[in-house]
Amino acid sequence: LEQQFLRSQRMESIGTLAGGIAHDLNNVLAPIMMSIELLKLQEQSAQKQDILATIECSASRGADLVKQVLSFARGVEGRQLAIQVGHLLKEVEKITNETFLKSIQVRCEIPAPLCVVQGDPTQIHQVLLNLCVNARDAMPNGGQLKLSARNLVMDSQCASMIAGASPGQYVHIQVADNGTGMPPEVVDRIFEPFFTTKELGKGTGLGLSSVLAIVKSHHGFLRVESELGKGTTFHIYLPAHMSEHAEIEAAQPGELPRGN
Ligand code: ADP
Repeated sequence: LEQQFLRSQRMESIGTLAGGIAHDLNNVLAPIMMSIELLKLQEQSAQKQDILATIECSASRGADLVKQVLSFARGVEGRQLAIQVGHLLKEVEKITNETFLKSIQVRCEIPAPLCVVQGDPTQIHQVLLNLCVNARDAMPNGGQLKLSARNLVMDSQCASMIAGASPGQYVHIQVADNGTGMPPEVVDRIFEPFFTTKELGKGTGLGLSSVLAIVKSHHGFLRVESELGKGTTFHIYLPAHMSEHAEIEAAQPGELPRGN
């Protein structure tokens, strides 16, 4: 528990530090971007135009990164709406099927009873999309990505097996891929801000830390199961929004493996 506390403190300080740096970097980038615009207004040789285009491209990549870091460091404050998880999953299935390579099949199992949570649909959408993009990156030779959701009663025995969990009624969302999987030493670090195994320019290492921040701000928790060569499943538990339609299915004892 102490280790968990130290880790979350460390993550918080990395977040604060990164926010400060991003803010300063923004002030550095602004005049660069403005000067580029000014130079573009003047007549330039083809060679100079090329150089300018390169500077502009790099500067705007920097500005994007700064924006991501700032929104991560500021934290997220969202709306409080009743969200039909099935609708969100369908949307994400559509976007991913349209934008991912055809070698990646995205399947979505829409829950029969309504699965409703409370919070900000844009943020939960972002969570699902981040997990899907990671799953895509873990399947460079193609594979299957499965999205599903169900209502779940978590008893105290189940809750005691998951870090940060407490008993209650939840919507359990799963994002499962059959990609590369991760070794335990990577799994241990994936929620750290800026931790990435992707090559320079491909990953920021902020995806899963924002996933965690959003899930926490929705009073949920998550865990990950991953096996090298087999694949990875992210489990998200969000408190169920009580509605008379929701039929609740009890968790099977012993269903939750050890770990995260
Ligand atoms: P990024 O995607 O920018 O690297 P993330 O925080 O989203 O940052 O992910 C951190 C790291 O976690 C990734 O670089 C990757 O090593 C690992 N990872 C995340 N999701 C998966 C997955 N589905 N399969 C394998 N590895 C994953």
